Amino acid sequence: MKFTKRLLSLLLAAFWGTVGVAQQSPLKITADYPGGNIIVEKIVGDTVWLQQDLRDTKGYWFYWNFKISGVSGRTIYFRFRDKPVFTLFGPAYSLNNDFSWSWLGEMSHTDTSFSFTFSKKDTLALFSMGIPYTQKNLTQFLSSVQDRQRLRLDTLCFSERGRAVERMMIKPDHKAKYRVLISARNHACEAMANYEMEGLIDAILNEVNLQYLRDYVEFMVVPFMDKDGVEDGDQGKNRQPRDHNRDYGEHSIYSSIRALKSAVNKWSEGKIRITLDLHCPYIRGDGNEIIYVVGEKDPEMSKKQVFFSDLLEKNNRGELKFYSRDFVAYGTSWNTDKNYTQGMSFSEWGTSVPGNSLSTTIEFPYAMVSGVMVTKDNARAFGKTVAYAIMDYLKGLKEK
Ligand SMILES: [Zn+2]
Repeated sequence: MKFTKRLLSLLLAAFWGTVGVAQQSPLKITADYPGGNIIVEKIVGDTVWLQQDLRDTKGYWFYWNFKISGVSGRTIYFRFRDKPVFTLFGPAYSLNNDFSWSWLGEMSHTDTSFSFTFSKKDTLALFSMGIPYTQKNLTQFLSSVQDRQRLRLDTLCFSERGRAVERMMIKPDHKAKYRVLISARNHACEAMANYEMEGLIDAILNEVNLQYLRDYVEFMVVPFMDKDGVEDGDQGKNRQPRDHNRDYGEHSIYSSIRALKSAVNKWSEGKIRITLDLHCPYIRGDGNEIIYVVGEKDPEMSKKQVFFSDLLEKNNRGELKFYSRDFVAYGTSWNTDKNYTQGMSFSEWGTSVPGNSLSTTIEFPYAMVSGVMVTKDNARAFGKTVAYAIMDYLKGLKEK
């Protein structure tokens, strides 16, 4: 009797085990969506071996972004190759297509591996080195903009792969006294810059105390200079044959950069006073977990950049701190001649735009600013700071 009971329970366990295995769908990892980037080396049981897809990048860079399904109720172990591919707060993740993103956390990972325990109801998850931003996010942002009379979306040009490169024009109520050019994603992977840009645009349109901008300043904003790179999930940084942010010299090879330079020529009328390019720095570590302005070579321009940095510090009310002293002067840190041998950057080109007063780059970290975790909202809050600094800078210009 005892024996029969035991046999029965073993048979039942085997039966349910079989059913259990049959019900568990296999792990599936994909990157066939906007911004996706991954190479799956192998999957063994609950462990997956991965690496970021460098494509045409010269040397190492760290961007990756993938979708995984078949995870319900399982703990999955993710292993990358030997170089750092996580921010201080690990990867960012989003569960079950709910459009929210969280950081895994500081103690969640080693330099090259992490694990994640999924609940029974988790059917799929997105993981990425940072919080992504593609055309879909821009469309969503634009649908929330009330003042569509003031902000108009059009097409700067078509990319090499036939995609529309968007341009936003923000018109003032009066004849434009000044014009300001703002761009992002000259490096495709630097997505956090677009949340900062959203905050900047929103502030121009809505902040009560920024009426001066709505009265007198016209903006041209290009959210994705490397549109193909953004949608295809490229690194963008150190791209071969040329990095977009080294293509601003005489013989630009990218259609978006040729189109931008030509559009600025037509639009400027000598009224451009600020050209601003939004970037993100290296993935983590000293000098990359602060927001900072990158100094131009020209000493006069550099002085104006320091002044602009002071205005950013003065106007910054968000939870992410900004210190003017973090300015990276030309000739210091990575910002030396050696870094620009491949060609002219956006901000260097900006110094040559007739009448322009300030050409600059702002570096905004992916995940951490002076100990505080970066989120979509505090990145947008810093964008508001940038809008205030732009207004103060323009108001302070002594013009004939
Ligand atoms: Zn960059």
